[in-house]
Amino acid sequence: MIYDIAIVGGGLTGSLTARSLAARGRSVLLLEARPLGHTEGSSHGTSRIFRRAHPVPIYADMASRAQHLWRKLEDDSGVALLTTTGGLDYGIDRHPRELYEAVRANAVTCELLSAAAAEERFPGMRFPTDVLFQPDAGHINPNATIAAALAVAETDGADIRIGTAVEAVEHRFGNVSVATSDGTFTARHLVVAAGPWLPEILSRTLPDIPDPHLTVTEQNIFHFTETMAPGHWPVLICMHHRTFYGLPSGADGGPEPALKVGRHDPGVATTPASRSGLPDPHTRDLVQSFVDTWLPGLASTPVREDTCLYTNTRNEDFLLDRRGPITVASPCSGQGAKFAPVVGEMISDIALGLSKTPDRFALSAHL
Ligand SMILES: Cc1cc2nc3c(=O)[nH]c(=O)nc-3n(C[C@H](O)[C@H](O)[C@H](O)COP(=O)(O)OP(=O)(O)OC[C@H]3O[C@@H](n4cnc5c(N)ncnc54)[C@H](O)[C@@H]3O)c2cc1C
Repeated sequence: MIYDIAIVGGGLTGSLTARSLAARGRSVLLLEARPLGHTEGSSHGTSRIFRRAHPVPIYADMASRAQHLWRKLEDDSGVALLTTTGGLDYGIDRHPRELYEAVRANAVTCELLSAAAAEERFPGMRFPTDVLFQPDAGHINPNATIAAALAVAETDGADIRIGTAVEAVEHRFGNVSVATSDGTFTARHLVVAAGPWLPEILSRTLPDIPDPHLTVTEQNIFHFTETMAPGHWPVLICMHHRTFYGLPSGADGGPEPALKVGRHDPGVATTPASRSGLPDPHTRDLVQSFVDTWLPGLASTPVREDTCLYTNTRNEDFLLDRRGPITVASPCSGQGAKFAPVVGEMISDIALGLSKTPDRFALSAHL
């Protein structure tokens, strides 16, 4: 059989792309090397921030479209995926007032609060500046999303192969031949959505595609039990000399309600094969000090901790582009999860030749 599209990778990007293509009646093969829910890449766990407050219009527009598509996937799968908690942006480097104007110009509902008003509204939090409040921000559950997207795609006819590693790719007679740990498959087009493995796959199996200069970094995550207002915390981005984020942990934080707190600034450069898997003590100290100073409604010692991989482009813009029968997708830089359903639609359009890559997501923008 010749599939219309084969996809390498069953993280958020690959599984939402499979869901989009299968819903359009295309024959889809998804090849994922590792077990579902594995913790070696970027999409594992139960919590990622969803927010529409983005100063750049294309991302603000994508987030609005994504919000509808999250709800559509919830309807189609019968699984709750996006929880609305409200979201806060603050800190001198976040420029809350300017962000407020930019976000309102993008037609996103939001409010600008003084630090005192925000402290009254959000017990357990202190603020160094004014605060942008966005009511429809919240968090998504990546593990549940991947399972839901693959189940819906499978119902629509997609062939999902978990535990099947792509080893080599060859162009043959206008098609793409994909050699895997479980035999060779042929497709008219290949989407490579391999997260932090993308740099290695490009250099090893697709040397004709120009190097987009991706850097993989190991990020640290810490879960702090909520001692005030348990179960009622918003998501937050604080850029005050350093950039921290926080969001309800879901099951990742253990049985008690907890907030997941991390630094967004890129961590130590690494590869999936050489990562340490261990949070580094310096980042733990910085995160703990941030929590002690600004989040007094959390316990001051993390109850759990973990690491995860970002795949970064040089300017944090996504890479979604096509060269002949191959589409490469790196929608990460630590901000890709919220857009996953709309990115799945965009990758499908690009792979099917239905729309051109937006300039800032083109390979040429990353060379
Ligand atoms: C700590 C952390 C916090 C984050 N927080 C947020 C957030 O709050 N909000 C937000 O919007 N985004 C966030 N992100 C970013 C978001 O999680 C990522 O953008 C997204 O998960 C990327 O998914 P992916 O499918 O591209 O990559 P991955 O999830 O890594 O998936 C790639 C898959 O490809 C598979 N693969 C690799 N090589 C092969 C091969 N040869 N054959 C077959 N399969 C292969 C891998 O096994 C893997 O499952 C965060 C990321 C991290 C790491």
